[in-house]
Amino acid sequence: MGTSLNDSLDEDIRLFLIDEKQLHTYDDLTKVNPVTPSTVLTCLQARYDAKVFYTHAGCTLVALNPFQPIPYLYSLDVMKEYHCTSQPQESKPHIFIVAEEAYRNVKGQLEPVNQSLVVSGESGAGKTWTSRCLMKYYATVAASSSVVKKQNTVERIERRVLDSNPLMEAFGNACTLRNNNSSRFGKYIQLQLDSRQLLVGASVQTYLLEKTRVVFQPTGERNFHIFYQMMSGATTEQRKEWKMPNGQCFAWLPNSNTHLEEDCFEETVGAMGHLGINTERQREMFRILAGILHLGNIEFCSSSDDSQPCDLEEKSKEYLQNAAEFLGVVALELESCFRVRTLKAGKQSVLKPCSLSDCLVRRDCLAKVIYAGLFEWLVTYINNSMCAESSTWSNFIGVLDVYGFECFQLNNLEQLCINYANEKLQQHFVSHYLKAQQEEYISEGLEWSFVKYQDNRGCLDLIEGSPMSVFSLLNEESRLNRTSDARLFRVRLENELSKNRSISWDRFSQEPHFTVAHYAGKVNYQIEGMAEKNKDPVPSELINMLHKSKNSLLHQVFSEDEEQPTKGLSKVTVVSKFKNSLENLMKILHSTTPHYTRCIKPNQDCKPLTFKREEVILQLEACGIVETIHISAAGFPVRIPFESFIQRYRMIKPTLTIDSGNNNILDFVETIITDVLKQEDVLHQIRGDKQNSLVHCGKSKVFLTQSMLDLLEDRRKKI
Ligand code: ATP
Ligand code: MG
Repeated sequence: MGTSLNDSLDEDIRLFLIDEKQLHTYDDLTKVNPVTPSTVLTCLQARYDAKVFYTHAGCTLVALNPFQPIPYLYSLDVMKEYHCTSQPQESKPHIFIVAEEAYRNVKGQLEPVNQSLVVSGESGAGKTWTSRCLMKYYATVAASSSVVKKQNTVERIERRVLDSNPLMEAFGNACTLRNNNSSRFGKYIQLQLDSRQLLVGASVQTYLLEKTRVVFQPTGERNFHIFYQMMSGATTEQRKEWKMPNGQCFAWLPNSNTHLEEDCFEETVGAMGHLGINTERQREMFRILAGILHLGNIEFCSSSDDSQPCDLEEKSKEYLQNAAEFLGVVALELESCFRVRTLKAGKQSVLKPCSLSDCLVRRDCLAKVIYAGLFEWLVTYINNSMCAESSTWSNFIGVLDVYGFECFQLNNLEQLCINYANEKLQQHFVSHYLKAQQEEYISEGLEWSFVKYQDNRGCLDLIEGSPMSVFSLLNEESRLNRTSDARLFRVRLENELSKNRSISWDRFSQEPHFTVAHYAGKVNYQIEGMAEKNKDPVPSELINMLHKSKNSLLHQVFSEDEEQPTKGLSKVTVVSKFKNSLENLMKILHSTTPHYTRCIKPNQDCKPLTFKREEVILQLEACGIVETIHISAAGFPVRIPFESFIQRYRMIKPTLTIDSGNNNILDFVETIITDVLKQEDVLHQIRGDKQNSLVHCGKSKVFLTQSMLDLLEDRRKKI
């Protein structure tokens, strides 16, 4: 990608363009001159060392994670300061500037405009932290104090909106190797404002919960927080009810001896209360969760006779009884759901014993479908409890907190979906950014058509396009009534898609895979298991059993869900569902004014105040800051005020006189440039109009390409 970290600048020119001692004072990265990854990085580092965590980058805000509480930055007084100032843009960069700007923008010049705050960055960079901060800001400066009556208590709407955070985080966040409080779902929350711009409600949309975590936790990671909260925070009676005595081990609760700040059961239960979930409902929720944990301890052993179903391990019988009790189902039916498959042949049903691995797959599938159903129910509940009547609100500010670009050793469907979402957001960002740049160039009198930029349309076409794309082929594969063959599927991908330049294959790799060149880097996806994950099949016996659950919450979760398939074939695939929900999100984003915040994780170990250049540069590239720089590099990244230009380059032609007046200055610049180009013997290549592609005079500055600057500097050195 163009200029890199190693392109260290000539010391001399560096001092001319940027004053290193003052680097930490550069509030906007676009003022760093020239804009290169190296200067941008040095500037951010200088600011971080000076404990300045926010920096503008044109129309985006870069937020560096301090990994340390900085209370003075987020106090009530600071909120008020940003809210009350007449010119927030002139205050020090802060997430509250973005918040305030969006808030003021809602009013619009002609008519109100909805706003979106898009927060991106890699895991642990601070997206959720930033989103919470934004919500607190609005709950403070736009507090309507409107109330929701609930039984005998009265709740303020701001309280509810804020309480939705710890509750959703308890169920949707987990400790991973990269972040102790990692969000395992994406979310877009819309804060609803009335005509006086007061917060009167909110609604939330979630994306792609990582439900696999319920049954599988990578080494060193944990399950969702809520389970650990129950283990550490419940009363003795509750633990007795859930059959979780002290010292009880659950297979799906690894690392339960690590106690985290996030394990706050009391706060979760408090939030449930504030949102109106009564104690009986809460009891049902916890029984379902306890049921899931007991499911995880059920083991099977293979039967000596292949025609007979697998047996339950002796010690698993109690866990099966407990799970059945908490889930409100009949233990015998639960057991047979795991061990026996019902095959329909016409009007007749045939029973077939499941293999040992099938039994485990079915057990895991039940736990996942229950947890995902419970999460969905919770989100719907939260929405009902926060959402204002449509007649009472007129505009919204949306806050988007989605997982950043991912590239692991092994990448599968989850990463493909996440990276696809990031491509979509990047596409939106680029088109928005170009608009902003266009405005700046126009104000300096430059013609927009000079600027080229990297378009990620090709990559998006590869993933989601029609008629042939990775998604369409994957859907075809998932609809086949047989287990997918990874090798055959790889051949099919190659046959159909190899014309697209964003896909490639490593000829020497043994594993069936494909590589996608995303805007943020290349990612290798393994094909094995992808079509099955996309199908996400749920055996109909499991759903039929849940329909009859005596746990009234579980019964409700599954009886209301009309989309829930009973036949695998008619089901909407994971990618189709995700694509649809993203398309809806993009429609909303396009109808709003976006504000981008890029969170950066300054080191991988989450250490306070530690800035690792190599790690930061990768993120600047991955989250699009470098891409933004490239967009400007395609134009004129070097901008020199007329006066400085004259001072520095008049030595090239000392006989040239210059007095004030813009025309004279333009002549001066042109003479110098023509002279340099002639001397360097490049003029014959860049005649006439093409000279414009190297240099352009605005109203107060000379705009140069990097190569033109290099020519000027070379010439200067030779004198
Ligand atoms: P993921 O994608 O895994 O959900 P994330 O980007 O949402 O990651 P956060 O959970 O918001 O990351 O942040 C990780 C941790 O960094 C927080 O738990 C908090 O300790 C710290 N942190 C983030 N931003 C700040 C901040 N502005 N001030 C102090 N600490 C912060
Ligand atoms: Mg998060």
